[in-house]
Amino acid sequence: MTIDWVGIEAKWREKWDESKEFEIEPNEKEKKFVTVAYPYPNSPQHIGHGRTYTLADVHSRYLRMKGYNVLFPMGFHYTGTPILGMAKRVENNDSELIEGLKKLYDVPEGKIREFIDPVRIADYFHEEIKAGMIEMGYSIDWRREFTTIDRGYQKFIEWQIGKLKENNLIIQGSHPVGWCPNDQNPVSQHDTQGDVEPDFTEYILIKFRLGEEIIPTATLRPETIFGVTNLWINPETSYKRIEVNGEKWITSSECAYKLSFQNKDVQVIEEIRGSELVGKKVSFPNRDDVIILPASFVQSYTGTGIVMSVPAHAPYDYQALKDLKADSNEKVRKETEGIDPIPIIHTQGFGEIPSEEIIEKFGITNQLDPKLEDATKELYNKEFYEGSLKENTFQFYNKKVSEVKDQIKDWLEQRGNSDKLLEMTNSPVRCRCGTECVVKILNNQWFLDYGNKSWKEKAVKCFEKMGILPPEISSEFNYVVGWLKERACARQQGLGTKLPWDKDWIVESLSDSVIYMAYYIISRYVNDKLIFAENLSDQFFDYVFLGIGDSKSVSESTKIDQKTIDQIRSDFRYFYPVDSRHSGRDLVPNHLAFFVMNHVAIFPEDLWPKEIVVNGSVLMEGKKMSKSMGNIIPLRKAIREFGADPIRLAIVISAELLQDADFNMDSVNSIKNKLESLMYECKKYQRVEINNLEPEDSWILTKLQALVRDTTESIERMRLREALHHVLFEFESSLHWYQKRTSAKKRENIDGILHKILSTRVVILSPFAPHIAEEMWEKLGNTGFASQTKWPSYEGDNFDLSSIQSEELLKSIIDDISNILNVTKMTPSKIIIYTADDFKTKTYHAILEAIVNGQTNMGQIMKELIANPETQEVKKNPDFVQKTIKDVLSEPMTLRNSKLRIQNFDEKNLIKNELTSLVKNDFGVEITVYSESDPEIYDPKNKAHTARPFKPAILIE
Ligand SMILES: [Zn+2]
Repeated sequence: MTIDWVGIEAKWREKWDESKEFEIEPNEKEKKFVTVAYPYPNSPQHIGHGRTYTLADVHSRYLRMKGYNVLFPMGFHYTGTPILGMAKRVENNDSELIEGLKKLYDVPEGKIREFIDPVRIADYFHEEIKAGMIEMGYSIDWRREFTTIDRGYQKFIEWQIGKLKENNLIIQGSHPVGWCPNDQNPVSQHDTQGDVEPDFTEYILIKFRLGEEIIPTATLRPETIFGVTNLWINPETSYKRIEVNGEKWITSSECAYKLSFQNKDVQVIEEIRGSELVGKKVSFPNRDDVIILPASFVQSYTGTGIVMSVPAHAPYDYQALKDLKADSNEKVRKETEGIDPIPIIHTQGFGEIPSEEIIEKFGITNQLDPKLEDATKELYNKEFYEGSLKENTFQFYNKKVSEVKDQIKDWLEQRGNSDKLLEMTNSPVRCRCGTECVVKILNNQWFLDYGNKSWKEKAVKCFEKMGILPPEISSEFNYVVGWLKERACARQQGLGTKLPWDKDWIVESLSDSVIYMAYYIISRYVNDKLIFAENLSDQFFDYVFLGIGDSKSVSESTKIDQKTIDQIRSDFRYFYPVDSRHSGRDLVPNHLAFFVMNHVAIFPEDLWPKEIVVNGSVLMEGKKMSKSMGNIIPLRKAIREFGADPIRLAIVISAELLQDADFNMDSVNSIKNKLESLMYECKKYQRVEINNLEPEDSWILTKLQALVRDTTESIERMRLREALHHVLFEFESSLHWYQKRTSAKKRENIDGILHKILSTRVVILSPFAPHIAEEMWEKLGNTGFASQTKWPSYEGDNFDLSSIQSEELLKSIIDDISNILNVTKMTPSKIIIYTADDFKTKTYHAILEAIVNGQTNMGQIMKELIANPETQEVKKNPDFVQKTIKDVLSEPMTLRNSKLRIQNFDEKNLIKNELTSLVKNDFGVEITVYSESDPEIYDPKNKAHTARPFKPAILIE
């Protein structure tokens, strides 16, 4: 049987729509406000995008069934430059882009021509993404939808950014930023290929003198200046003579280019080959005759393309010097004569020349060996934390490296012997336009003062108070906040909102997307034309969000009627704060951190976000999804092919939160099969009254309670993979046993029980696979929506524990009989079972109690048993005690506890009443049951005395 997924899903979406199921207004219930980072519409959604939204939707649907009034809204983020760049490429007839739009995304030809207008691009993909979200069955309140270039939203952003400025959290100054020289715009993660955040480090430039000229070398270790033996230059590379703020410098071409973005006036004079500089001698205060030598490891794109050599402490330098000293060319060898490492740092555990030792340790043989990188790192770390300077460092003698670094930096700077160079640490970072980004010092720019200490402290407090799922990601947030520094918050290009006080600038995309969840409360009124963007003033937002002022005067100044203002304020008070924020892991270091930073800056503590849920990305058949791999499947296409529910489940079941989810066709197909067989079951049973529970009925209903409990607990921790596993698969073996028991008894009155089981399973499946769950619910003859059904409750301690114990015993006896028959290959004519007597049962409980209380020592347990007159007879049977201890220890804790609670357990009667039909069914014979102390016992093989509680003895004839 196959299911018409598309038909069924459309049917239920229409019904939800008619019932206005997800249009959420404040009511008497407790609320939950669940949000996801809104999408940036520059392409359609693919399966990978589906993950975060699906997880948030499952979460929302679950909370709704738990009885909360759950608001789950959605907006669209138009802000920024990527769409602008795309429009330009369309205008220039970029064939690669246009082919991609046509082939990969199925954009109609006529539409593409409109794409020279960036807003048309955003609008097109906005509708595309929205249609996909609807088709996925996301329970979104679409009445609250907006885009970030809507006038109302812009008013809101003007208020937000004004508020930050008012609180002195926006400053004007000069700070380094990642920069696209082509777009003349700062870049951050959203603007780069592969979504990387530009990251940079400040190097110190040490100015060596070559006559009139300066040869700068970049270093992170200014203290090693005292150990310099020579400079390295790459003879094969071309360098530039440049004028830098009036001085004459020589650097690599790349360095000259980088310097020109860092507040330096750079004029290129002429080119010069590296080889021309080899053999020249430079000087430095206290030092003359520092020779420039050739080295192939020197790269023109790092630093200045010229390196100072400190062979005693830098493994690269040591190895390069060693290589030169062994050169076949005699002239080269001669130049190195008399150049020997100058040790300047003493570190415990190292001898005179640490780099020599570490090179030996790593087994390095030449200067192009990649292991040099690790050797360098290890030695740098050791010397930084544990090293101190030697006598030959003059006034810095005996100081610790970690403490002296800044002093030496100042000392160099004050004498005009140094400068600075900012390097991109994770280069190359490419802008979406294809240009390689640089570090630029931006002057008189508007910055968010994310480096502000008291601001950070507030954010840390918020992170400490909030729930973070999964918990292991918490430390990452602390790390990110620790490293946050000033961040440019405005751009000169792109879609968005102008800075209210400086209209040449546009608020950038990671700054206008931080507290927008508050705007969902207002957007619904704007969309319904109950209020108009023109009327939204700072005073209005102050009142609605912060309770500043009063509605009467806000009404007077904004011309919005007072009742509406009061209504909006009360909506906001009801829905805020955000109860759960879902997002991908890539947004931890930026969006999620800024989301918290901005909330704590603008809102009082009771409105700070309460939870963040972070998920990993999605792989396709084990590989990263990318355009170049050609393995991107647009979400809507996949829905048409597989149905939305199978995709939802395949995404959820493949990984827990932080792991990467592997989407593959096998899992989609196996899920489809599973749902189809469940559907088939649902058609078979109708609601029938259940009365007179047989033992196996109590047992399966207890198992059902356990299923609900386990599923609930997993969802509460957002372990959705585990939860879905419970719902779909883990109940099968229980059902199998139940069917075995009931068919052995030839029962025909179990439809009611099976209906109840299926209905419960369908209800807890509903948040995951909402469409098909409604269809199953209907087929089961239930009324209303599965998605509106109350989440089943479970009573922690009211499970029928004795039923679990009984069925476990029956299962184990059946297993034992099969094993004996397998081993002996006999055909049974008679099976006799002996149960333990009362004395053993009493003793068993004493042993069980001792073990549950933590006593597992056989001797100790024996002592206690003998000390008790009730059990002292046991001294005649130490073997029984030993075996029983083993029995108990091999059982799970839960079973031990439940056995302890159920003291009176009539094993003999249970076996008599319940095992007979099973044995008859499985092995075709009757059983006889004795207690080992029965007077009329039939025990030809003298087996009865080996019986133990829950381990009856078995005789097969
Ligand atoms: Zn660019």
